[in-house]
Amino acid sequence: MTTASLRPPATDKLLDSDAMRALALQHGRVALLAVAREALGHWRAQTPQQAFEPAPFEARCSAALQQQAAPALRPVFNLTGTVLHTNLGRAVMAPEAIAAVVAVMRGASNLEYDLAAGGRGDRDDHVDGLLKELTGAEAATAVNNNAAAVLLVLAALADRKEVPVSRGELIEIGGAFRIPDIMRRAGAKLVEVGTTNRTHLRDFEEAIGPRTALVMKVHASNYAIQGFTASVPVTELAALCKARGLPFVEDLGSGTLVDLTRWGLPAEPTPAQSISAGANVVTFSADKLLGGPQAGLIVGDKLLIQRIKKHPLKRALRLDKMTLAALEATLKLYRDPDRLAQRLPTLRLLTRTEADIRLQTERLAPALAQALGTRCQVQVLACRSQIGSGSLPVDRLPSACLAIGAAAGGNGVVKAGSKRAGSLPDRLAEAMRALPLPVIGRIEDGQLRLDLRCLDSADAEAAFAEQLPLLAQATL
Ligand SMILES: *Cc1c(COP(=O)(O)O)cnc(C)c1O
Repeated sequence: MTTASLRPPATDKLLDSDAMRALALQHGRVALLAVAREALGHWRAQTPQQAFEPAPFEARCSAALQQQAAPALRPVFNLTGTVLHTNLGRAVMAPEAIAAVVAVMRGASNLEYDLAAGGRGDRDDHVDGLLKELTGAEAATAVNNNAAAVLLVLAALADRKEVPVSRGELIEIGGAFRIPDIMRRAGAKLVEVGTTNRTHLRDFEEAIGPRTALVMKVHASNYAIQGFTASVPVTELAALCKARGLPFVEDLGSGTLVDLTRWGLPAEPTPAQSISAGANVVTFSADKLLGGPQAGLIVGDKLLIQRIKKHPLKRALRLDKMTLAALEATLKLYRDPDRLAQRLPTLRLLTRTEADIRLQTERLAPALAQALGTRCQVQVLACRSQIGSGSLPVDRLPSACLAIGAAAGGNGVVKAGSKRAGSLPDRLAEAMRALPLPVIGRIEDGQLRLDLRCLDSADAEAAFAEQLPLLAQATL
């Protein structure tokens, strides 16, 4: 073999084949050149040097371009059993919200334009009427998420002043959201009140002084204190604040707009309850139980909301038009609470019956078992779903799951050093994540479990079933 036969043709010639011309047409010449250079580099780096072959070179270019074209952010099946899963995007939007987003994306909108007056408007106007109506508050505004809402409220109302908070409520929500840190970032001084398990009204009375800006209550979303406990009822705290001329601020976290017990779900405080109990400002998320897009909602007394809206941080934390469109459409669904459980996906998922989920699990088990073959055993098991996103941490919803474990006889563990290390459930989970529409489950008791609560439409079920045969090729 001569050295010449080892060398690839010049770049121009390389791009001149039918396959490469088709790739250039589909992905553009610039992108194709970039992957072609990478593929050439790969060929050069191999030892021992092989003769240059166009076919594997072109296949490598095509695969690289396809990978680049695939979206990084893409849909998955949330079969974790946690309905509002922060890592999986929390609330699923209602069709009304999706349509509203698409409509404002396509062209110009009256985002900050008052159509009646023909002049500048306020973007909050699209949602503040609904928020007032649904919470009973005098005024409302909205920002990027609830963490931003808390930050903004504290920055606007408690700059360089003191804020008493019960020691039982100094929570971390996950990520970097910790009440003491947010306080500091907002320029407020946290005054810890009471103890971890018990805080009384007199603790607050003693903590309030000339430097107090407001009193804050934080809903202990993601944990529960049980046993010998005491906290101050909202009405008493609100009355104390009123007597001392201080705003009472409540961070509700999840904040559902309706009484969930109506659908047999655990009770969760609503902003309307807080407002009627005397809270002056209430903050809550739009993408937790409310079932809307990511946003932080702030409702309360007119003068306080005005001060909050005027703070420069409001401009930095404001909502974009797509979120506002989805939020408005979602809030409108609440005007008809009788049909909410059918129309709002979050509530529909939370109210799915165990019997319905079990039937679906039994429907899908044979196809899954067939795809996985003799390597695995598929069972239908009862399980409990979680609401998630820091809502109602103690209460669980009866559900059913597909539980996949090693077939009887094998222990399902591959020894370290063998081709595929790790336990069978780990490898199964990996294979599920590698499907075109990745399936995310959870590993429990040596099994991969797929809670089907969130697979709630016929379309979703069909899409899930359709890709199961691909698992037959997975190396487990
Ligand atoms: C979830 C939560 C937050 C943060 O809300 P995001 O919308 O995730 O920013 C703040 N406070 C409480 C009590 C929460 O539960």
